[in-house]
Formats: sequence, structure tokens, C-alpha cells
Amino acid sequence: MNSTVLYILVTISAVLAMEFVAWFAHKYIMHGLLWNWHEDHHQPHHKDGFFEKNDLFFLVFAIPSATCYIVGLNSAHFWLLFVGIGISIYGMIYFLIHDVYIHRRFKWFKQLDNKYSRAILRAHGSHHAVQTKYGCESFGLLIVNPKYFGKRVKK
Ligand SMILES: [Zn+2]
Ligand SMILES: [Zn+2]
Repeated sequence: MNSTVLYILVTISAVLAMEFVAWFAHKYIMHGLLWNWHEDHHQPHHKDGFFEKNDLFFLVFAIPSATCYIVGLNSAHFWLLFVGIGISIYGMIYFLIHDVYIHRRFKWFKQLDNKYSRAILRAHGSHHAVQTKYGCESFGLLIVNPKYFGKRVKK
């Protein structure tokens, strides 16, 4: 396998792995030890300005990404650079889908409407139906439980 193909595969794998990492972090860290930072994302608070405490998690996820860039560029493990790029790409996807498309922090993609985008909206809507640390469901973003693809959501 030539190295370009390998690096593309590493990047794609990192993006996919991040969906799992984000799910895990959301379920066990954001709704766990660091609920304090995530709590305001579960409150109706849009009058209080643009930023939420929850945005700190973007900085947290920038740490492993930056570490991969630095180590990848300064060691024999050049492939780590592409893990860093994958983490960055996932961060951008997360921001565009979660913050822009779902929570409308910017008025982009309003016209986006298909089965998958509606399923993402429903799944994340059901996550936000609960405003407390415990009792939430659907912690992932891009991988959606098939039940959200139906016309009606059965609980
Ligand atoms: Zn949450
Ligand atoms: Zn949300």
C-alpha cells in the first residue's frame, strides 16, 4: 500500500473513531465528572450570549489533536499527523452539524432536509428532551439509532 492511501485511511479511521470517542465522552464525562461544563447546553439559555460553558469541550478536544500534529511532524510517527487531521475534521463536522444545523448558532443550511438530517435532528432533540445529568439518551451525533428514521418516534 502506498503511503498516500495509508494516510487517507488513517484520516478516515480517525474521523470515524471520533464519533465513538465523542459518544463516550458525552455519555461518561460530560454527563459525568464534567457535567458542570455541559449543564448549560441542556438549559434554554440563548438569551445569555453566544458562548456556552459547554464550548470549553472544543478546547479540550483540541489538545489531543494538537498533540498529534506536533508529535507527527517532529518524530518518526508521521502518520500521527493524519490522526490529528482526522480529529480536526470531526471537530468541524461536529460544529457544523451540532452547533450550526441543530442548534442554529448561525443561519446556514436551513434548507438542508432529508431522511438522515431529520433523523439526526430527532435523535439530538430527544437527547435535549431531558435537562438533567441522568436519564438522557442518544449521546452520539452521526450514528443515529434506526428508530429515529421512522415517521414517528417510539420511546
Ligand atoms: Zn448532553
Ligand atoms: Zn445539543
